[in-house]
Amino acid sequence: MAVFIGLDIGGTKIMVAAADQEGNILRRVRTDTSTRLEEDLTNINNMISEVAGNEEIMGMGAAIGGPLDWEQGIVSPLHQPAWRNIPLKAMMESRWGCSFHVDVDTNVAAVGEYRWGGVSAGRFLYLTLSTGMGGGFLVDGEIYRGQDGAHPEAGHQSIHFRCANPAAVQCECGAPDCLEALVSGNGIRRIYGKPAEMLSREEWEEVAYNLGQGLRNLAALYAPDLIRIGGGVAVGGGEHFIRSAREVMEEHLKLVPSPQVALSDLGYDTALRGAIAMAFPNR
Ligand SMILES: [Zn+2]
Repeated sequence: MAVFIGLDIGGTKIMVAAADQEGNILRRVRTDTSTRLEEDLTNINNMISEVAGNEEIMGMGAAIGGPLDWEQGIVSPLHQPAWRNIPLKAMMESRWGCSFHVDVDTNVAAVGEYRWGGVSAGRFLYLTLSTGMGGGFLVDGEIYRGQDGAHPEAGHQSIHFRCANPAAVQCECGAPDCLEALVSGNGIRRIYGKPAEMLSREEWEEVAYNLGQGLRNLAALYAPDLIRIGGGVAVGGGEHFIRSAREVMEEHLKLVPSPQVALSDLGYDTALRGAIAMAFPNR
């Protein structure tokens, strides 16, 4: 049997899975991300061998943090300082003899949600709220790209926010008033002094309000049919959190129809499932 390989290369963990022709995961493994490039690459190759077994590998896809050059497959994930200008596509294609496609993790997650999460929306926006915050926008299933292939950064928009501790609203990108600084895991720690899972009901409402303002901007600019939201913070906040954010969006959005807003269907596997989708020749 032939298999397709998906890799989710994150700042804290690396996940690798082998899937069949229908995208069903057959085997999967994970390990912690190290601080050394050589160790990560060795781990990745060993994990691929482990999940592929003796099967023929038909293609590989990978999700990793930006910035990167998706055409050349050269990656420099911001939160993995040992990885700078790594020609991952060339390295993997020569090592494994099959096609290898890599893209920004949030784009790959959008592809995963679209392909395996039952999405048929023509204009589909996927957002992830985890350590940081980002998104991917698909038009008829194709990734929307900016100038010179630049990845639009949904988390680095300025919003009209509410915050009991405004001095702690500091984005890692250096710009003021970014959405990411208010609703991401790192932003929540800075503002509330604790992880998202420890937030009180009132604090969750404040985060939902701020997310809703960000959704309102995104809906006004992209006019998408559907927004799905995944990542640890969103999954932790659950349906109630997403509903509160959607109500804020609906209240403030004028002129443009409100999109559907829902939690991700794929939970923590969205990027991994997207990487598998990227491994297929005719995605
Ligand atoms: Zn920012």
